[in-house]
Amino acid sequence: MKDTESLIETWVSPNVRELDSYYVPDSTGMIKLDAMESPFALDDAIRKSWLEALSRVDVNRYPDADSRELKIQIRQCLEIPEECALVLGNGSDELIQLIAILLGGENRVFVSPTPSFSMYQQISLATNTGFVGVPLNPDFSLNFQETLGAIEKNQPACVFLAYPNNPTGNCFADSQIREIINQAPGMVVVDEAYNAFCGKSWLGEVKNFPNLVVLRTLSKSGLAGLRLGMLAAGEHWTEQLEKLRLPYNINILTQVSGKHLLGHYDIMKRQSRQIIESRGMLYETLNNVPGITVYPSETNFLLMRTALGADFVHGELKKQNVLVKNLNGSNDALKDCLRITVSCDTENKAFLDVITAVHS
Ligand SMILES: *Cc1c(COP(=O)(O)O)cnc(C)c1O
Repeated sequence: MKDTESLIETWVSPNVRELDSYYVPDSTGMIKLDAMESPFALDDAIRKSWLEALSRVDVNRYPDADSRELKIQIRQCLEIPEECALVLGNGSDELIQLIAILLGGENRVFVSPTPSFSMYQQISLATNTGFVGVPLNPDFSLNFQETLGAIEKNQPACVFLAYPNNPTGNCFADSQIREIINQAPGMVVVDEAYNAFCGKSWLGEVKNFPNLVVLRTLSKSGLAGLRLGMLAAGEHWTEQLEKLRLPYNINILTQVSGKHLLGHYDIMKRQSRQIIESRGMLYETLNNVPGITVYPSETNFLLMRTALGADFVHGELKKQNVLVKNLNGSNDALKDCLRITVSCDTENKAFLDVITAVHS
């Protein structure tokens, strides 16, 4: 019998041994405002026609390896410029992983501002790639000179910029992003996971910058359960990424569901507009609660800081069945911060009732 501990120590690299797996708390029975999901369930008629489409699926066959029909639908709905080639992923997380497999490894470095989306660092370390995080300014804007300095010094294979940024909610300045794309020696990923709530995009610039790659996802605008992300870039990148993508990574149920449900993209767009409106009201209300600082957002969540301590407030919300994300301790800049997904009126009110009571 081999000793389990020595097996792992001998064969699993230290950078992976030191990682924690992505933590997802149990949310059974909770009002779930922690993961930027859409609160809107499918309408009954759409659900019915969707299930009919699924019932015709030949599940004994492999799916279309190139997801051709789904890609046509995605191009139409998301207005992907013709000159962009597309790679689909099992969520945009998988596409970040593909980029890391393509460009990472020993003696390679990825750069990203921090705090930002945790998977940039997680996947860097998992692929044995150096990760350099450049702290944001206190107002969550880019520390532009330091970012350019880190790029000059580390010559990163890839720079990750979430636009808007998670968990801070803001977009970095376009002129600064442009300069980063110009100065970066390798790929620059602009991750537009929250595009539905923001309206600004770098998709139109892909043709002007050979090192620019744009990520999108359907997760934040109503289809988190499908796991469908897209990467838009010049063919020089997608050709290489296609070699690493596992065949049939988009299963047949996701392909058929994605195509069918995107046929109702107008509804998803309307829901996003509703979330934007609710975000405004939620922001105004929180902004008037003593002890709370709330930050402007171009996403479907709000970042707030509480003078009562985030651990305490998070616990009080949880006692009332409201689950939000406690960011305290995850980064120096996020001391006593909570991140709240903007939801439907009922759930927003449930959250506001507790948070105002706790702060009164
Ligand atoms: C949520 C999120 C993603 C991941 O989306 P999936 O498509 O669900 O994997 C990627 N980037 C950012 C910045 C996110 O917040």
